[in-house]
Amino acid sequence: MSDRPQGFDTVQVHAGNTPDPTTGARQIPIYQTTAFVFRDAEHAAALFNLQEVGWIYSRLTNPTVAALAERITALEGGVGGIGCSSGHAAQIMALFPLMMPGCNVVASTRLYGGTYTQFTQTIRRFGWSAKLVDFDDLDAVKAAVDENTRAIFCESIANPGGYITDLDAIGKLSDDVGLPLIVDNTSASPYLCRPIDFGATLIVHSTTKYLTGNGTVTGGALVDSGKFDWSASGKFPSLSEPEPAYHGLNFHEALGPMAFTFHSIAVGLRDLGTTMNPQGAHYTLMGIESLSLRMEKHVANAEKVANWLEADDRIESVTYAGLKSSPYFDRVERICPKGAGALFSFAVKGGYDACVKLVDSVELFSHVANLGDARSLIIHSASTTHRQLTDEQREASGALPNVVRLSIGIEDPDDIIADLDQALTKATA
Ligand SMILES: *Cc1c(COP(=O)(O)O)cnc(C)c1O
Repeated sequence: MSDRPQGFDTVQVHAGNTPDPTTGARQIPIYQTTAFVFRDAEHAAALFNLQEVGWIYSRLTNPTVAALAERITALEGGVGGIGCSSGHAAQIMALFPLMMPGCNVVASTRLYGGTYTQFTQTIRRFGWSAKLVDFDDLDAVKAAVDENTRAIFCESIANPGGYITDLDAIGKLSDDVGLPLIVDNTSASPYLCRPIDFGATLIVHSTTKYLTGNGTVTGGALVDSGKFDWSASGKFPSLSEPEPAYHGLNFHEALGPMAFTFHSIAVGLRDLGTTMNPQGAHYTLMGIESLSLRMEKHVANAEKVANWLEADDRIESVTYAGLKSSPYFDRVERICPKGAGALFSFAVKGGYDACVKLVDSVELFSHVANLGDARSLIIHSASTTHRQLTDEQREASGALPNVVRLSIGIEDPDDIIADLDQALTKATA
């Protein structure tokens, strides 16, 4: 094979997939096994010492899960990665090697609702904290960084407000302050955006969404760019000093650019157990084979639907970065030139009551708390996912009473529009 880099469409089908050496199976088998037999005692010792790479126990690594991690790593342009039990698990796994009690992560205010709660409430039990700032205000981001900050965190395309992070600027800022940048690339997928090209260190995914693409499994992934120098600042002792949790191994010295990935397996997955299962990895591998084809269609449909909604007089406003009226339209070309994704929200005339009627009147759309499915999905955040929040919190997160969020699927766009049309007629009657 030549050194010529393969195109995205080829990588999404082939990366991580070599014919099974025993049977010649063309598709990646589901290695539905907990443990793997050692050749002999010496082999077992070499595996545990990380001197030889191989299979021990599926909480750590499994060939089907590893194939998926390799494929996502290749699509993101990283050097190593792991599969996790969910997107939320991947976020904890990204922070775990970096943080100690008293440390903080500086994160964007524009976060997936579940991440907002994980960062503002749950991680405090580990002694970690998050400082949330507006990532359009670069001075504020810089000012939030203190001596205990260990990472910068944002989403490439943040839902539900049609917001696109200026990854170019945030990547440079992270570099200036010498901290790893973690990007949640769930809403964009590596087809629309490759954060590592903008200087991101670590990528997290909820594979539950576009990567699987059909609403069948919950999963997550973590990819390391391999570009961060963990030893430069002395801030990351788990990676750059003898790690007491792994018989004093200095991961950075021993494994170089693979330090983070090996630490995530040998310490993170071993002790936190946030492991993906091989059956789930299989479904996601099948989904990824058509990722680029689906994303093209998701984006084309979203653009059509958003433009139709914007021109409709029953609608107050549409927040989709792919619309010329969006304040983030100029970022689309720079950050995600193949399109602004397929997730956006719109405000309906008639407020809360009209929105509730709308979600009760759709027929093609499914009223669910999910996104990134082949099917078109709708949710009224104010009466569901954001019900427990105060009015101020709802406003800050874009979940106003008159706002409905759509995840546009890959159906015929005329059918999607016809369904919204008939439901809007009932909702605003
Ligand atoms: C769904 C989602 C998550 C959480 O992923 P799970 O797989 O549900 O744990 C995190 N970030 C974003 C942007 C998401 O859409």
